[in-house]
Amino acid sequence: MNAWNRFCPALLAAALALPASAMPPAAPLPAAPNQPTAPVVLDPGHGGNDEGAIVRGVREKDLALVFARKLKARLARNADLPVVLTRDDDRYITLDERLVDTLDMSGSIFVSLHLNQVKGKKAAGAIVYSYGPEKLRKWRKRRFPSVPPMPAPPRGQASDSARLARTFSRVLRGDGFKAEASRSDYYVLKNPAVPSVLIELGYLNNPEEAAKLVDGAYQDRMVDSLAKAIEEYASARVLPAAVAVAPKVAVKR
Ligand SMILES: [Zn+2]
Repeated sequence: MNAWNRFCPALLAAALALPASAMPPAAPLPAAPNQPTAPVVLDPGHGGNDEGAIVRGVREKDLALVFARKLKARLARNADLPVVLTRDDDRYITLDERLVDTLDMSGSIFVSLHLNQVKGKKAAGAIVYSYGPEKLRKWRKRRFPSVPPMPAPPRGQASDSARLARTFSRVLRGDGFKAEASRSDYYVLKNPAVPSVLIELGYLNNPEEAAKLVDGAYQDRMVDSLAKAIEEYASARVLPAAVAVAPKVAVKR
């Protein structure tokens, strides 16, 4: 979509207020009514009672929300890429709700943001997961026994998700961050309707990396890189137009 077209009525009104000799050349009128692009859905991991990783007082749920808000603000510079958050405060959302919300929002892509925690201090860097065979399945079954089974996404959706994951890792590396694309069968990666990735932005258990992750300037640089990846993916794929949906009556969390 052309941002120029969207502002056409305002330009026209301004132009009509000028004497004919001062009028700028007419802007091209849109051939068809513009439809806003379906929003990018950003999903800050965890929230409420589910705090995620906690290392030396830094809570994953808080930092994920900081990154999501910053990424939303950065993407707002691009009028053609609306953004919604699955949560914009400290609340618990089930995995199902995160997927259903994405469908309700007619989301075009889904990006879940997390911070990593493993044993040891040396692991570093971002991992961008898309759906695929899971090596850690047994470990996750122990840790999240209540997560219901969900079928794998259709093959086309999975390959779009993998493409999105590769775009993120390549753009991050190009900007000097350590990053890799990987596969997982995380629940939120199985959305059958929307290319979906889950990004572990870095390791909170690595003191050096944790210090960077809580630093505002580092966050801004990383957010800029994430935004560039989303813009590149969106411009190459032509994201679907938003579909009008009835507003939700009431949402109980
Ligand atoms: Zn997490």
